[in-house]
Amino acid sequence: MRVILLGPPGAGKGTQVERLAKHLKVSRVSSGDLFREHTQKNTELGVLAKSYMGRGALVPDDVTIKMVMNWVNAPEQAKGFVLDGFPRTLGQATALDQALAEKGGIDKVLYIMVPREDLVVRLSGRMICRSCQTPYNIRDSQPKKEGKCDKCGGQLYQREDDKPEAVRKRLEVYTNETEPLADYYRSRGLLEEVDGNRSIEDVGQALARLVAA
Ligand code: AMP
Repeated sequence: MRVILLGPPGAGKGTQVERLAKHLKVSRVSSGDLFREHTQKNTELGVLAKSYMGRGALVPDDVTIKMVMNWVNAPEQAKGFVLDGFPRTLGQATALDQALAEKGGIDKVLYIMVPREDLVVRLSGRMICRSCQTPYNIRDSQPKKEGKCDKCGGQLYQREDDKPEAVRKRLEVYTNETEPLADYYRSRGLLEEVDGNRSIEDVGQALARLVAA
């Protein structure tokens, strides 16, 4: 099964992608995590990506597509996967279609919807783990020990691009570049909409039901 999680920044994709992949017993990837790994290691790609990420802009399609396709085409992903944060542009969506053309394509696109005014509040309360990138939120998913990741004990920090200026830019980019993908997948009968303005548990169950259907 090959699934895409679509939705605005702050909708909870990063939280749900892990649960859903476990449920489906497939692998998963968040393109933002891949970029953050590169920036932490200071690779050439990381240095390039950082200049876009910090201001809430998208990293150019050519490098993004290459990075994610390397992951998608790896043998470990043969059983299927859940993608979070990719595709984010029409160019990325068509590149993904081409890469999967002979493998049967995408099975479902799950669109997590959250009202815009809630996204800003959600993003400003988010902290992520420096080591394993697990997201937490002061609203509904606090770590057991303040500032420490429950899973690996890593240090939690606020992403540079979760600060107000970058958040505004990311939401604008989402509306212009990524939101049109909902129509792209809807017109092909792949899109399922989920109300993301509920508890983590409830959203998780709704997603699990949709992939079972
Ligand atoms: P995220 O963790 O998904 O919010 O992504 C953080 C940042 O990484 C984004 O604001 C972009 O700068 C970059 N990024 C992640 N995924 C993509 C993508 N599919 N296309 C372009 N840039 C991306």
